Amino acid sequence: SDETAPDAGAPPAPAPTPGSGTPMVRMAGVDKHFGDLHVLRDIDLEVARGEVVVVLGPSGSGKSTLCRAINRLEPIDGGTIEIDGVPLPAEGRELAKLRSDVGMVFQQFNLFAHMTILDNVTLAPTRVRGVPKGEAQERARALLDRVGIGDQSGKYPAQLSGGQQQRVAIARALAMEPKVMLFDEPTSALDPEMVGEVIDVMGGLAKDGMTMVVVTHEMGFARRAAHRVVFMADGEIVEDTTPDSFFSRPATERARDFLGKIL
Ligand code: ADP
Ligand code: MG
Repeated sequence: SDETAPDAGAPPAPAPTPGSGTPMVRMAGVDKHFGDLHVLRDIDLEVARGEVVVVLGPSGSGKSTLCRAINRLEPIDGGTIEIDGVPLPAEGRELAKLRSDVGMVFQQFNLFAHMTILDNVTLAPTRVRGVPKGEAQERARALLDRVGIGDQSGKYPAQLSGGQQQRVAIARALAMEPKVMLFDEPTSALDPEMVGEVIDVMGGLAKDGMTMVVVTHEMGFARRAAHRVVFMADGEIVEDTTPDSFFSRPATERARDFLGKIL
């Protein structure tokens, strides 16, 4: 059968206490330009262990660049980024290691078309981490069960729906045992009827205490699963507050304008 996670609609895990312990993600004074365009402006952002932060903002405000900066898919011009207290190096072997602590799920699923679902999920652990194949497969099957597609492991990506493919992409990211998961509009490319099954899997992860940074237009997820909402405009973090306060009492004109357009 094709069941989604059983945690649908469950309340979020208790909010972690900000300021206690080393933040899982710490960005300080991060700047990024694309030519003349100042796309990240002095970004300070800390995400605590187990915290779920939803990033909102108009198109072009820098949300994807922020995510890509967190695992150095996008080099930054200034400031510092630490994952679990360790500064992200600019390049090299150390970068590869730290980057594997950061799982990323994109709008496009980017599965390997010529490989089975099981092989998609075991590839990185066996190649990058040196996990023995049998062990990687056992883990992959458990993860595929967790995202509700345990019975699809022998198929190829094209044989799965978009929602199923995105759940494979989530399992693939989890297979590296990341410390933090980044989601950049994971449901934006899906047919509407498939959005819920992916959101449910993400809700289950949040409930299990995964540290998550999520760019999404799914306001239901933001309200239910997020501990914090970060609102960006023109490369800046304009608001950083609880979902309840953001949705009921947005503090800035830009946030009110944004909410007026989407709600
Ligand atoms: P969002 O995800 O909030 O829509 P992005 O981070 O994708 O915003 O983009 C922020 C700004 O940076 C936009 O104006 C976008 O056009 C620009 N931009 C993004 N990537 C590049 C790039 N590789 N080269 C030049 N400009 C870029
Ligand atoms: Mg984007």
